Amino acid sequence: MIVQKYGGTSVGTIERIKAVARRVADSRAAGNEVVVVVSAMAGETNRLLKLAADLSPQPDARESDVLVATGEQVSVALLSMALLDLGVPARSFLGHQIRVCTDGVFGKARIKSIDAGPMLETVHGGGVAVVAGFQGVDEAHNITTLGRGGSDTSAVAMAAAVKADVCEIYTDVDGVYTTDPRICPNARKLARVSFDEMLELASLGAKVLQIRSVEFAKRYNVPVHVRSSFSDEPGTWVVEEDASMEEVLVTGVACDLNEAKITLLRVPDRPGLASKILTPIANAHIVVDMIIQNASEEGFTDLTFTVPRTDHQKALGMVQAVAHEIGARGVASDMSIAKVSVVGLGMRSHAGVAARMFDVLAREGINIQMISTSEIKVSIVIDAKYAELAVRVLHQALIEEGVRETQA
Ligand code: ADP
Ligand code: ASP
Ligand code: MG
Repeated sequence: MIVQKYGGTSVGTIERIKAVARRVADSRAAGNEVVVVVSAMAGETNRLLKLAADLSPQPDARESDVLVATGEQVSVALLSMALLDLGVPARSFLGHQIRVCTDGVFGKARIKSIDAGPMLETVHGGGVAVVAGFQGVDEAHNITTLGRGGSDTSAVAMAAAVKADVCEIYTDVDGVYTTDPRICPNARKLARVSFDEMLELASLGAKVLQIRSVEFAKRYNVPVHVRSSFSDEPGTWVVEEDASMEEVLVTGVACDLNEAKITLLRVPDRPGLASKILTPIANAHIVVDMIIQNASEEGFTDLTFTVPRTDHQKALGMVQAVAHEIGARGVASDMSIAKVSVVGLGMRSHAGVAARMFDVLAREGINIQMISTSEIKVSIVIDAKYAELAVRVLHQALIEEGVRETQA
C-alpha cells in the first residue's frame, strides 16, 4: 500500500493532472494499492486568500477556511476524472467524507483522527482513493484547514491511518537538498535525512515538507520518500537516524522570511514579566519563536521575540496593551528580518559550528540581531536583505567544504 501526495505544481495544469493520473495508474498496474492525496492547483490557494484579503482587512477565520478548502475540491475531482478516463476506478474524498477530524483552530488545525474505512474499501476493491489534502472538519462540523503546506501532513496522516508501506511526496524538486536549490545553485540532493534533522529544517523554513508531516512520520514511523513528479529518479528518504549520520557536522541550511520581531523597550525588570507579556500571545495560538531578554540595567530590561509575520499585527496589538499596563517605555517592531539556520546531527558531539557561522557572517559584514541554539541547530536573525547571501556563504563554508553522503 502506497500513499502518493502531489503538490500544487504537480497538478498545476490539465496536462500535469493527466501525467499524474498516468503515474498513479502505473503504480496500481504494478500491483500496489494506492491512496492519492492532492493539493490545490498551483497558485490557487494564494488566489483564494487574496480574494478574502481584498474583501476584508481581517477575513473571518471560519469563512476563510471554507473558502481556501475549495482549491483541493477542484483538484480531487479533476484527478479522479482523469483516472476514470484511463479506465482506473477512482473515487474522490473530501476531508469530511473520511472524517479527518481536527481541533477547531481555523487556518492551522491539527488532525486528531481519520476514518480509514472508506479509503480502504476503495483500494481493497481495486480502485484508487483520491483524497483532498489540507482540509478537515472539527467536532462541530466546521471545515478547517491545516496551515500552508498542510497537504504534506494530510498525506503522512493518511499513510499512518491506512498503514501504508511508504508515503511518497511528489513535488517540483527531486528531493530534499542541503539548502533551497532555488537560492543556492550549489545545493546538493540528500539521499537520506533523519526525522530529527528534517523536523528542524522544516520548522526553520525549508518548505519542502510541512513540519507537522514530519512529526507524524516520526511518531508513526512512516517512511517518507520526497521525489519529483517530473522524473523517475529516486529522491530523498526521510528515515530514523543511524550511526553514520552523526558523522556529518552540518546537513542543511534553512532560511525563514516569514517571521517578524517585536521588542518591548525598557520594561521594569520584575518576576512574572515575561509571563505577563507572552501568556496572552500563547492563548491566542500565536507561536513565539526566539526570545531574548537583555541583562537588567538599573532595574530595566528589553525583551525581544519573534512571531510569524501573519500574526504580527495581532501580537503587536496585544503587546502594546500590556506595555502600557506594565510601564514599558515603548514597543518597536521589525517586519524585515530573516532567520537563517544550520542543522546537523554532528553538532551534538562537535562544538564550534556557531563560532564558525559568526565568523563567516562577520566577513560579509552581516550583523547578527538574535541567536538561538539547540542540540542540532544554530539559528540567527539578520536583516532580510542579506538572507540569500547568508545562505550561500554558510552553505559554502559549512557544507561544500565539508563531507556529506549525497546523490549526484
Ligand atoms: P509543493 O507544492 O509540491 O508542496 P512546495 O513549494 O511546498 O511544493 O515545496 C517545494 C519547494 O521547497 C521547492 O520548490 C524549493 O524551492 C523549496 N525548498 C526549500 N528548502 C528546500 C530544501 N532544503 N530542499 C528542497 N526544496 C526546498
Ligand atoms: N494548498 C495548500 C497550500 O497552498 C496546501 C498545500 O499545498 O499543501 O498551502
Ligand atoms: Mg508544499
